[in-house]
Amino acid sequence: MTPRTSPDLPPSLWAATAEAGPPAPRLTGPAEADVAVIGGGYTGLSTALHLAEAGKQVVLLEAAEVGWGASGRNGGQVNPGWKVLPSEIRARFGPERGERVVRMADAACDLVFALIERFKIPCDAVRPGYLQAACGGRGRQAQESWAREWSAYGAEVELLDGKAFAALIGTDSYDGGLRDARGGNLQPLSYARGVAKAAAGLGARLHGGSPAIEVAQRGAGWRVATPDGQVSAEHVVIGTNGYTDDLWPGLKETVVPVASFIVASSPLSQNLARSILPGRHAVSDTRRVLFYFRMDRDDRFVFGGRGKLFDSADQGRREHLKAEARRLYPQLADVGWDYSWGGYVAVTREHTPRLMRLAPGVFAGLGYNGRGIAMATMMGKQLALAVLGEDPDMTVDALRPIPFHRLRQIGISWNLLTGGWLDRLDRR
Ligand SMILES: Cc1cc2nc3c(=O)[nH]c(=O)nc-3n(C[C@H](O)[C@H](O)[C@H](O)COP(=O)(O)OP(=O)(O)OC[C@H]3O[C@@H](n4cnc5c(N)ncnc54)[C@H](O)[C@@H]3O)c2cc1C
Repeated sequence: MTPRTSPDLPPSLWAATAEAGPPAPRLTGPAEADVAVIGGGYTGLSTALHLAEAGKQVVLLEAAEVGWGASGRNGGQVNPGWKVLPSEIRARFGPERGERVVRMADAACDLVFALIERFKIPCDAVRPGYLQAACGGRGRQAQESWAREWSAYGAEVELLDGKAFAALIGTDSYDGGLRDARGGNLQPLSYARGVAKAAAGLGARLHGGSPAIEVAQRGAGWRVATPDGQVSAEHVVIGTNGYTDDLWPGLKETVVPVASFIVASSPLSQNLARSILPGRHAVSDTRRVLFYFRMDRDDRFVFGGRGKLFDSADQGRREHLKAEARRLYPQLADVGWDYSWGGYVAVTREHTPRLMRLAPGVFAGLGYNGRGIAMATMMGKQLALAVLGEDPDMTVDALRPIPFHRLRQIGISWNLLTGGWLDRLDRR
């Protein structure tokens, strides 16, 4: 699987069950706007929504269709926080700015559920909390830090022992875990389409089938070309994450795309569903090469992870995920699996997202390290602030490609391989 294989939305559980999106015709001919937004995932859509709300004329260009990228393919888990702890965020951004960044990260899940509520987005959203399952002593230690640090910011986080945790997730395969009340689940493609509708309702013009192929300076502004049209705008925002192409020199080299895969079962009987996740929580574990799982609205078990590292065939990855799901929940032995699909997340060197100013009037936001539902939505708000000339909470960085970028892919594969071994050792 390479980042861009087909312009069609790949078949998936979400593609089969999503609400319809707003019309997004191909751009033909010239268009004028205050801001041209490139990328129709959560980053681009949230940017468009927040800018349209602030009274800006917005044209959004999406190469395929709204939600075609990771935003229409992910696990639908609204995950709180970042990959790194508040103390690490403060260490990276400095005490004052770091404090702002932590509070912004804390508010990201609230922003998602507030948008859903405000714009009445039908996306099967539930907010029973996010569960993180601990694997070994390393996992427990990490969770103690998470609970201590986020509780200090008022987050409702509780550590659960093995028995209490097993009652929530229907398996005693883990060494306890934590519940973080900020998280929840939604239908990711319906959410993307709902944000698109809300943005369109506020006046943003959305164009699918319209890849940006060139961004060039024109006078005091910019001209973004597509195969059949062009947009003249004062500002440009790029939100292409794991699907970033060669549009802006060096941008692709700021992240490493990493594939993640998901399988979804047939609808389970009520009893079976209750024996697995009675509270319908979003779950992931503390492995270095983690698994994540949840129920959808029709009681399908949705299970995701990296798949088998050296099995490049999708079939092998699917079978590996199903086998892992059955190992955790033997009661799934006879259950059918209706869907499997994959997509790309964007990993950064520091495991923190980045907001960058690429040139005067040109911004990019990306690098959610696999936790983008909440943070890409928040990034859109931050990018809108940057465009409006206000001071976003995120630091606005310069473009800094990852040194020896080509080798990073190998490095990540190596980390995944050794991570898998270390994960197994942790469980001994
Ligand atoms: C399998 C999987 C499971 C995941 N699970 C979760 C989860 O449970 N919880 C969570 O929080 N996060 C999860 N993520 C991560 C999350 O989906 C992403 O972080 C988030 O969707 C990123 O949104 P985005 O808008 O930045 O990028 P994307 O949604 O990837 O959108 C980028 C868009 O840019 C478009 N594009 C690229 N180049 C151009 C161009 N030149 N012109 C126009 N358009 C262009 C692409 O077509 C694409 O639609 C998962 C990701 C994957 C792949």
